[in-house]
Amino acid sequence: KKFECNAECQLNNIIKKMKERDPNQNEFHQAVEEVSKTLLPLFEKEDKYLSVFERMLEPERALQFRVPWMDEAGKKHINRGFRVQFNSAIGPYKGGLRFHPTVNLSIVKFLGFEQILKNSLTTLPMGGGKGGSDFDPKGKSNIEIMNFCRAFMSELYRHIGPNCDVPAGDIGVGGREIGYLYGMYKKITAQNEGVLTGKGRNWGGSLIRPEATGYGLVYYLDNMLQANNKTLKGKKVLVSGSGNVAQYCVEKLLDLGAIPLTMSDSTGYIFVEGGITRKLLQDIMTLKNVKRGRLSSLSKVSEIKYHDGKRPWGEECDIALPCATQNEINKEDALALVKNGCFAVAEGANMPSDPDAQDIYMKNQILYGPAKAANAGGVAVSGLEMSQNSLRMNWTREEVDEKLQNIMKNIFNATQQAASLYGKNDIDYLAGANIAGFIKVADSMINQGIL
Ligand code: GLU
Repeated sequence: KKFECNAECQLNNIIKKMKERDPNQNEFHQAVEEVSKTLLPLFEKEDKYLSVFERMLEPERALQFRVPWMDEAGKKHINRGFRVQFNSAIGPYKGGLRFHPTVNLSIVKFLGFEQILKNSLTTLPMGGGKGGSDFDPKGKSNIEIMNFCRAFMSELYRHIGPNCDVPAGDIGVGGREIGYLYGMYKKITAQNEGVLTGKGRNWGGSLIRPEATGYGLVYYLDNMLQANNKTLKGKKVLVSGSGNVAQYCVEKLLDLGAIPLTMSDSTGYIFVEGGITRKLLQDIMTLKNVKRGRLSSLSKVSEIKYHDGKRPWGEECDIALPCATQNEINKEDALALVKNGCFAVAEGANMPSDPDAQDIYMKNQILYGPAKAANAGGVAVSGLEMSQNSLRMNWTREEVDEKLQNIMKNIFNATQQAASLYGKNDIDYLAGANIAGFIKVADSMINQGIL
């Protein structure tokens, strides 16, 4: 009898081929495997999608370039720059730039791959891309940051454009860096247009863009809780991270009456018994954004308990919101969360829960808002920034916030719908997000021919 390779067998072959081609890209493989597992029911129903999925795993273009720059003491440094233009089926490549010593092609590809599906979920016409450098901004002076950004853009400028590829920020790239990058782009190209998002509000930026990822995360969470007859009010929340996403996540939690207990950075976490207050959040924002200091410097403040070298997942809570970085919740952490009463997890960072942690959420019926859906508010408002730039107009805070709230609601509804159609159960929002994001991109690829 002839052996027939069914959808699962074909999918396994695709994954095997991908791994053989690029054996050292663990983060990228992790991101793809998570998606592929959840897409299998769709492939079983509609086999046209399998070959599209295979095509989607290969970036349309992956750029790597040299970034030489000089520090204030006159010492020369060489870093590596990347831009992966992953998929343009539904719009210009769109996605952030990450400056962090861990950045390599695997990390940029995992982030770019996630971005394809995330951007699709936003309902706005944006393709997927990501970039960055292994440059470490920690401890660098303002001049050095400017020198680096200029050197980085002196190569990147030739590959991007407002209708082709629109970068933004990510870890290590905030408003200051976008300013230096934008200034250099303008200088070299003599173009003054919306080629980057996350710009300052006086020079083409959108109101609410700095807040968007954190606010959007809490809006998504709120929708997810409401759909399951729960509310945010009075809930104890563990937040990790203390950068842009975590800061505005905590702010929105306070607006909606939740109790944020923790924040963290790469050296440890702070725990505040009665909850982080607005005043303390303000201090943390100044410490992080202006002084560029560490949370450990708060260890002497009386209401704060600082835990050196630890992550916050061992504390009692109702909800956990990882807003730091990839794989920050492993199996042990997830088990601790379940044991300590956590009933919902929503992801502000990209891929913060490793595959074992995701399994634990699933087994324990944790309400789980996966990154692609839950943190899509950032890139959604980037899309709104692009719209405003094209219109040569600015919308008010209220207008942008209302649009963001609607987008997060739409994203939740789309993930919920796809979950009940294809998921393991009605709250399988992980499958829901992957499938809802995928179908739109895959259909667009089919419409446009084999490219
Ligand atoms: N870096 C953010 C993300 O992970 C935002 C990207 C953007 O605004 O283009 O989605």
